[in-house]
Amino acid sequence: MTQKAYRTATLLVHQGKDRDPATGASVVPIYPASTYHHPGGVPGEFDYSRSGNPSREQVEEAIALLEGGCRGFAYATGMAAVGSALALLKSGDHLIAPEDLYGGSWRYISTVLPQQGISVSSVDTSDLAAIEAAIRPETRAIFLETPSNPLFKITDLRAVAELARARGLLTLLDNTFMTPLLQRPLELGIDVVIHSATKFLGGHSDLMAGLVTTADPELGKRLKYFQNAFGAVLSPFDCFLLSRGIKTLKLRLEAAQASAQVLAERLQQHPAVTRVYFPGLPDFAGRERHFAQAGGAGAVLSFELKEKALIKPLLERIALPIIAPSLGGVETILTHCWSMSHAAIPASTKEKLGIRETLVRISVGIEDVEDLWEDLAAGLAD
Ligand SMILES: *Cc1c(COP(=O)(O)O)cnc(C)c1O
Repeated sequence: MTQKAYRTATLLVHQGKDRDPATGASVVPIYPASTYHHPGGVPGEFDYSRSGNPSREQVEEAIALLEGGCRGFAYATGMAAVGSALALLKSGDHLIAPEDLYGGSWRYISTVLPQQGISVSSVDTSDLAAIEAAIRPETRAIFLETPSNPLFKITDLRAVAELARARGLLTLLDNTFMTPLLQRPLELGIDVVIHSATKFLGGHSDLMAGLVTTADPELGKRLKYFQNAFGAVLSPFDCFLLSRGIKTLKLRLEAAQASAQVLAERLQQHPAVTRVYFPGLPDFAGRERHFAQAGGAGAVLSFELKEKALIKPLLERIALPIIAPSLGGVETILTHCWSMSHAAIPASTKEKLGIRETLVRISVGIEDVEDLWEDLAAGLAD
C-alpha cells in the first residue's frame, strides 16, 4: 500500500500490506518458518522468527497504522502485551494504576510487579487530583484503562497525559474496550497503547493475541528489544487470524454498538435492574468526558440487578449469550464479573470498589437485537 493517509475503515481492510509482496496473493501467507536462509552468511530482512516474521509484521504494521504509532508489536496474549509493555519499568520504580481494571491486569500489577521490586499505588484514575497525590519521587509511569472495567469510570486522557508529561512520567493505556476505531490515545498524548486483541480486534472468540504500539521511536526500540529478548510473540497462524479479524472491525463494532445502545436503554427501564453503566446513556456520569476523547460508546455495558437472588435464574435461563469471561466477539457474551473476569480480585477489594455480586456485564454481539432483548427479558422475568 502507498503512504497516503487513508481513513480508518480503509486501513482496517488494507492494513500495512494488502497483498503478498512475493506473489501478489490477496493475503499475506502464514509463514510458519522458524528461521531464514542467510545467503553467503549474510542475513536478509528476516533472520529468525522470534525476532521477525512476515505474518507477524502484517499485524504489527496494522496496529501502528491504526493507532498512529511508529511501530507495533504482537504478543501471544493480551496479558503478554501488558507484561511486555510494563517491562519498560525496572526495579525501584513506582507505578500508578487504576483501582478498577481488568482482573488479569490487576493480578499482574498487584502481585508480579511488586515481586520484581516495582511498587504500585492503586488510585481512582478518573480523579486527576488522586493521581497527582500518588506521585512520588520514584514514580515512573501511569497505567490506565478507560472506560474502566467493569464500572465504566472515565479517565480524562488528555489531562493525565499532560500531567504525566509535566512530571516526566510514562503513560500506558489499555485500549481494548474502545479499539482504535473509537479511541486513538496516542493522539491524546498517551505514550504506549495496549490491546487484548483476543477481544474486538480478533472479534470471533477463536484466538488469543495482544498488541502494543507507540509513537515514540525510543520507546519502540526498547519494546522491540524486550519482545525479542523475552519471546512472547504471536504465532504466524494467529497473526493470520488476527489480520483477518481486523478487516471487519468497523462493521462488527458499529453493529454491536447500535445494539448495545438499544439494550442499555431497555435495561434501564427494567424493574429488576437498578443501574446501567454505559457511556451511550444520556444520564451516564462520565458521558461528556468520554465523548470528548472517544467516537462512540462501544459495545460493552454493565448493569446492576436489584438483588443477588436474580443472578442464578438469569444465568440459568439465558440462552443466546455464551456465559464466559471475555468480550468483543461476534456472539454476545455475558459475564458475571464477580466470579469470572474479576475472580482474581479478593472479595473485600471488589466490595470496596463497587464490583458487586449483583453486577452483570454484557459484550453485545451482532445477533438480531430483538432476539437478544427477548432472551434477556426472559432471564430477568419474575
Ligand atoms: C481480556 C483483557 C486483557 C487480557 O487479554 P488476554 O488476551 O486474555 O490475555 C487485558 N485487558 C483487557 C481490558 C481485557 O479485556
